[in-house]
Amino acid sequence: MDKDFTSCLKCRNGVLLPLSDYGRDGAPIMYKAWVCNNPECGFNIRIDNGEISLGRDISTSVK
Ligand SMILES: [Zn+2]
Repeated sequence: MDKDFTSCLKCRNGVLLPLSDYGRDGAPIMYKAWVCNNPECGFNIRIDNGEISLGRDISTSVK
């Protein structure tokens, strides 16, 4: 299932789910962050202004 998603490189059990966001001008930002769907793993990647942030604690306010 969910073979379209990238397997999590950390736990290898979950998959990385793409999260989108909206910029200040309302333009959609596709795939701004990727998070592992395994709650015990919590691996995440964020892309902010072209910079990639790895593994920070992320809020659970996933829409
Ligand atoms: Zn994981």
